[in-house]
Amino acid sequence: MESETEPENERPGSGGGHNGAGRGLGSGPDNTPDIPDGRRGDDGGRGAGRGRRRRTEGRGGADGRGAGGRRIGRRGLLLGSAAVLVGGGVLAQDSLARIWWRMPGMTRPRKEGELDHAGAQWTAAARANWRLADRPDDYRIDRVIIHVVQGSFPTALRVFKNPGHGAATHYVVGKDGKVAQMIRELDVAFHAGNRSFNERSIGIEHEGFVDRPKDFTDEMYAASAKLTAGICVRYDLPVDRTHIIGHVEVPGTDHTDPGPHWDWKRYLELVRAAVPEARAAKAAEAGG
Ligand SMILES: [Zn+2]
Repeated sequence: MESETEPENERPGSGGGHNGAGRGLGSGPDNTPDIPDGRRGDDGGRGAGRGRRRRTEGRGGADGRGAGGRRIGRRGLLLGSAAVLVGGGVLAQDSLARIWWRMPGMTRPRKEGELDHAGAQWTAAARANWRLADRPDDYRIDRVIIHVVQGSFPTALRVFKNPGHGAATHYVVGKDGKVAQMIRELDVAFHAGNRSFNERSIGIEHEGFVDRPKDFTDEMYAASAKLTAGICVRYDLPVDRTHIIGHVEVPGTDHTDPGPHWDWKRYLELVRAAVPEARAAKAAEAGG
């Protein structure tokens, strides 16, 4: 069955960051690095199984959830009497799955490389570093968690692509303002070291080191704020420090990122300023 194993890195006080490379990146013991120590993510077994199925089905994963009881229940609700067909076997389930994805307003195609943030470039994290989900339907998204890599942009991408790493964020923002999306917002990324926070959050890594304020450039703040504004609009989150938090604020964490040099006041102002544009973009998307 789909047992939800409690990962090693969910234990508080286990030391270190979410990935091991950080040890080679000049981060001292005081600056708990966000870059890797190779421990496992928060339930890789279940996620990996689904991911395999998803890939082999060749439809970008939309059907990976076809066999789930909750899904069937929902389709039953939508399609009324069609639900009785579910008992008829795999074929019926598959065709129902296709119908479901065509329902107006319910279609959420998952295509390889598809982005949630228009300003991002897709580069996939290793499948072991996240879990397939259907947020915000299965888990409500209620916050953004801000991280600092303790390393470079390319390093973050490299370790998040490493299946042995066991952790990754949805996004990585560079000093020059470039944004990589590595995990869909639908899915649960292993980044906070706390299962329930992972399930309800979107994680954003920022290139640089917590003790090097110059790493936090204007371009980075602006790009990250635009990204977070879009997330707040998508999931109706207030722009405040309850809904936009640092990794350091996650219960049980021993991480310090984004650290004392991250300018929260400035960041929230930038996010608020970016909200109208994000709303307009969402409205345009809905209208088109
Ligand atoms: Zn972090």
